Amino acid sequence: MKIVLLGGPGAGKGTQAAKLKNHFGIPHVSTGEILREARSSGTELGKKAAEYMDAGKLLPDEIILGIVDERLGMPDMSKGFLFDGFPRTIPQAEGLDKLLHDRDSSLDAVVSIDVPDEMVVDRLLKRAEIEGRADDNRETIKERLRVYYAQTEPLKSYYTGHGILKSIHGVGAVDEIFERIITVLR
Ligand code: AMP
Repeated sequence: MKIVLLGGPGAGKGTQAAKLKNHFGIPHVSTGEILREARSSGTELGKKAAEYMDAGKLLPDEIILGIVDERLGMPDMSKGFLFDGFPRTIPQAEGLDKLLHDRDSSLDAVVSIDVPDEMVVDRLLKRAEIEGRADDNRETIKERLRVYYAQTEPLKSYYTGHGILKSIHGVGAVDEIFERIITVLR
């Protein structure tokens, strides 16, 4: 199963991704997580990423596609995968299609978790208290939402055009939402 999880900041992608990973036994690849790890190891990539992340901006597509290309080459990816937080722009989606095509592969489904903005801000401020993520403050959250609508939401039409978009209602208990996802993937 080759899946992309789509959704705005705080839509619950990370939570559902962890459950889907166990359910399907596939690797969960979060570009945000890869960048946070690079950041805490203090690598060149991490230093660069920090500037963008703290401003709520997206990193350049070439950098992200380079990370994904490398990850796709790892042996555990052959049985399937779940991307969370990638792609986030049309050029990233086109780049992913190309990377997969070059490997005689393609996506099975793109699941969009839809949650109203007003719920997202509260969720993210709560996460800031629990996890202490540097980019979970009110200003950055607003910017990340703006960036989501400007750059990432158009991916829904892109994948609708490819006939693989599945939208689910992202409000409810974690297990309920998980069931909705599993149902649309059947
Ligand atoms: P996330 O954990 O997915 O919310 O990502 C946190 C931050 O990492 C984002 O706000 C961006 O600054 C950066 N980031 C993660 N994934 C991407 C991506 N696919 N393209 C560009 N920037 C990204």
